[in-house]
Amino acid sequence: MTESIRANLARLRERIEAASARAGRAPGSVTLVAVSKTHPASAVEEALAEGQHVFGENRVQEAQGKFPALRAAHPGLRLHIIGGLQTNKARDAVRVADVIESLDRPRLAEALAEAMQKEARRPDFLVQVNTGDEPQKSGVAREEAPGFIRRCLEEWRLPVRGLMCIPPAEEDPRPHFRTLAALGGEFGLPVLSMGMSGDFEAAIEEGATHVRVGSAIFGARIAL
Ligand SMILES: *Cc1c(COP(=O)(O)O)cnc(C)c1O
Repeated sequence: MTESIRANLARLRERIEAASARAGRAPGSVTLVAVSKTHPASAVEEALAEGQHVFGENRVQEAQGKFPALRAAHPGLRLHIIGGLQTNKARDAVRVADVIESLDRPRLAEALAEAMQKEARRPDFLVQVNTGDEPQKSGVAREEAPGFIRRCLEEWRLPVRGLMCIPPAEEDPRPHFRTLAALGGEFGLPVLSMGMSGDFEAAIEEGATHVRVGSAIFGARIAL
């Protein structure tokens, strides 16, 4: 197991740097978010031992179970919450996360603003955009995204640093990555979280600053 996480990370870092170079991007300009959902804390420890310090989890409850102990032992660890967030989990999310990537609706924005006051903690936020306008998927609809981003910044005063998307599974992801990059550019937002195990190289070529990769590091997940 150790060998494969080590080898997977090494291979992934090479591919990330090669894609960055092809796109004319500076070395080290893409952050790898290692998505550890469904994998045990021991797998996260193995990645930490290889110098990987940024992790992503979908569910707040799973993150709460795994990460407080890891964080105590590894102060440089950074945790991103990347899954759809229920409003009643806002306070727990603010407590556990350094970055919340799934900000996508007014009620959640209000709950997060209130939670930050109560917890005296300010994670960074990314607005998740449903670039494919898929009804079952989280993320703000494309058309509503500019208005929502503006309200997050001005009305709720949330520290929004960028945007996140998950393109529709069966489509060419590039047009979606371009849509996200254009929107980020309109607002001068520095962070673009896009690209997963199957498409991170295309995402980097389209301007991703963060790629979220799970199975290419930790192996296949058992379906939940
Ligand atoms: C699971 C997940 C990933 C990682 O997916 P892989 O295909 O395993 O790399 C990235 N982003 C989100 C939002 C996820 O839920």
